[in-house]
This record gives sequence, C-alpha cells and structure tokens, in this order.
Amino acid sequence: MALIVQKYGGTSVGSIERIENVAERVMRARAAGQDVVVVLSAMSGETNRLIGLAREINPRPSERELDVLVSTGEQVTIALLAMALEKRGQPARSYTGAQVRILTDSAHTKARIRRIDTDRMREDLSAGRVVVVAGFQGIDEHGNITTLGRGGSDTSAVALAAALHADECQIYTDVDGVYTTDPRVVAKARRLDKITFEEMLEMASLGSKVLQIRSVEFAGKYNVPLRVLSSFSEGPGTLITLEDNDMEQALISGIAFNRDEAQLTIKGVPDSPGIAYRILGPVAEANVEVDMIVQNVGVDATTDLTFTVHRNDFEKALEILRRVAAELGAREVSGNEQIVKVSVVGVGMRSHAGIASRMFKTLADEKINIHMISTSEIKISVVVDEKYLELAVRALHDAFELDRAPNGAGH
Ligand code: ADP
Ligand code: ASP
Ligand code: MG
Repeated sequence: MALIVQKYGGTSVGSIERIENVAERVMRARAAGQDVVVVLSAMSGETNRLIGLAREINPRPSERELDVLVSTGEQVTIALLAMALEKRGQPARSYTGAQVRILTDSAHTKARIRRIDTDRMREDLSAGRVVVVAGFQGIDEHGNITTLGRGGSDTSAVALAAALHADECQIYTDVDGVYTTDPRVVAKARRLDKITFEEMLEMASLGSKVLQIRSVEFAGKYNVPLRVLSSFSEGPGTLITLEDNDMEQALISGIAFNRDEAQLTIKGVPDSPGIAYRILGPVAEANVEVDMIVQNVGVDATTDLTFTVHRNDFEKALEILRRVAAELGAREVSGNEQIVKVSVVGVGMRSHAGIASRMFKTLADEKINIHMISTSEIKISVVVDEKYLELAVRALHDAFELDRAPNGAGH
C-alpha cells in the first residue's frame, strides 16, 4: 500500500469549512487505498497573532517561551482535523511534535530536526488510522518545545516523509504549483510541471516562500519525491525532482525576489589588508548574517564597502557600522531599507552566455538603477529600489518569455 505524507498550509486550514475540505481530501486518498500521514500548519494569521501577543508583553521575549506559545497554533488544527475525520468514520489520531518525537537541536525559533521516531505512527497506520501531526515543531533532548522557523511545516512534512520512506510528500497550498514567479505579482506567471531540487532550492533561498528552504534541502538530500499542489482545485501541481533529459530546456526557470533585505554602506575607509574583516567581523560576531557584499576601490587609497542584511537586523548592523567607522576613521556610513533583491534562476544558464547582459539591458530599458549584483552558476541577483520591484519582475518575466513553455518541453 502506498504511503503519502500530505501537508496543508495555513490558508488551507484557515476555517472550519476548509478543515472539512481537507478531511474530504484525506478521505479520497484513503478510498484510493493510500496510507496517509497529514502534517498541518496553524490557521492562517494565527502564528502572527501569537507573536503579537508575546510582543505586547515584551518586545524581545525569550525564544524558549516564544516557542511554547507559537507551537499552540498547530495543536488546534490537528485536533480539529482528527475530529473531522472521525466524524466521517475514519479513525485518526493527532500528535504534537513532542508526542511523535520529532527530536530537534535546541536552537529555539530555528531548530533543526535531528531524528524522528516512527514506531507510533507505523502502529497507527497498520491499525488503519490516519496520523495527523503538528507541523513546525519538535522537542529537544531536554524536553523543551522547539520550532523550526517560519514556514517550517513544509520541513516537518518532508522530514516525516523521509523518515517513513513515504512514496510522495504532497504540499497542499493556496496556489496550484510552483510558478515561474509569484503569481500574485505577475498574472502571466506560468505553472511549472517540474523543477529541479537545485533550482527550487535557489528560488526558495532567494525569496520564493512557496516552500521553506530547509524542506527543499531535506527533500534533495533524502531524495523525497515532493509535489506542490492546490488544496482548492484538482491538478498535477509541480513535481520537484532530480534533473533529467525530459526537463524543459529553459535558460531561466524562474524569478525570485526578496523584500526582507536592507543595504548598508561605509565610505572612505583606508584601503589596507584586513579591512573587510575589520568591518564585517563585528557584524558576524553580533550574529547578523550578511548576504551580498560589494567593495569599490577609490582613487585616494580609500575604499567603500556595501553589503546587505536581513531587515530585522538593519538597526543592529547600522549601530555596529557607525562604531567601526569611528574606529577606522571612515568618512561616512549610510543605510537603505527600501531595497529588494530580484534574481533570475535556471540551470540552463550554465551552458549559455548573455543571460546577465539581457537582464541588465531589460532593467536599463525600464530605467531601473542597479545597486548591487551577484552571480552564481545558476542565478543572477540584483539589488534595486523597492518601488521598482513589480516593474522589474514583470519586465524580466517578459524579457525571458517565461509565460511561454520552452520548445521541446517534456510535457
Ligand atoms: P502555505 O500557508 O500553504 O504554506 P505560503 O503562503 O507559505 O502557503 O506559500 C504559498 C504562496 O507562495 C503563494 O500564495 C504565492 O503567493 C507565494 N509564492 C511565491 N513565489 C511563488 C512561486 N514561484 N510559485 C508559486 N507561489 C509562489
Ligand atoms: N505556522 C507556522 C508559520 O506561520 C508554520 C507554517 O505555517 O509552516 O510560520
Ligand atoms: Mg508556507
């Protein structure tokens, strides 16, 4: 008998009607002869609401207590779904992460899964029960509740699928698959039948929140067949898979963007060996992750350094930079929170030149100024002013003809 792990996101369990709808889907999988483990998110908006409550008490609550609080959202939906299944005559049992025993490290609010005990779930499955597991949460070796970072239910689902050697992990959400870019920004965005783990990982890391980054990492590592589908409509969705010859031969498979970054610049620093370390060392020590970095060499033996950090870390980074600037005798420190990173992604880029210049020309034609550029084998990212986000993404989507299926596409 096939074993399927199905994960439903916040919108898909956002009301009682929608939970009933999920129950119907699970019933259909059962009727088709499948064993089913369901992973649920909290109702949409609930995790944010809980974080808001915490902040009313303390703008910086302890992360341990935050995890105790935000993990409750998922406990509500799992119990409601189990009830909806029982009402339909389908035996079911819901479990929190701690009950299953999803063992994680102790990094509260961003814990990593270490091990999953499958005995209890297997027992339920052999007894004909549907297992409903709370996503986003686990427990550390000391018995503390942990959570896996925002969007973490995707990772719970993939990790369970890997541990159970499931035949497929299905991620049900409010769009019917992975698109060439966020369909909420570009109406002409096209659903992809397939995308490689590598490209999906790049899209997720560069800001496409349709799948949490770690879920894709996990799926790639353990070769878990992963599919993104709509919980509201029928259809094949998008399969995330290993590269094969049957794949669409597109140069670019998608465009990702990230609104969560901010840019900092320090100007007129004496240009001497170790200067990047003296500037970025203290930033790293404060646990602020730096993304893009650009260093310009000035004429008068000074240099300018620009880098980006997560917007949540902007103030912290600015403070550090001002201190470092005073120490080094730098001329000026500035910051900009109104920027975004826009990236084009595709494995086809490896064997084709000219993608970068096409990207830069497209932005130039729209009179969009580029602040920073970074490239890898399969992506090109630029930082531009936030006000140009939609324009940039739409123009690039047109320029690379992403609304059209590439010739020789394998579907
Ligand atoms: P869930 O609550 O089900 O986990 P999310 O909001 O986390 O759902 O993810 C689904 C959303 O991801 C979509 O509503 C869509 O706006 C957004 N998204 C961003 N990039 C893409 C993309 N390339 N393809 C599909 N959806 C995308
Ligand atoms: N409820 C959590 C969040 O909002 C986890 C998830 O939905 O995947 O981030
Ligand atoms: Mg999500």
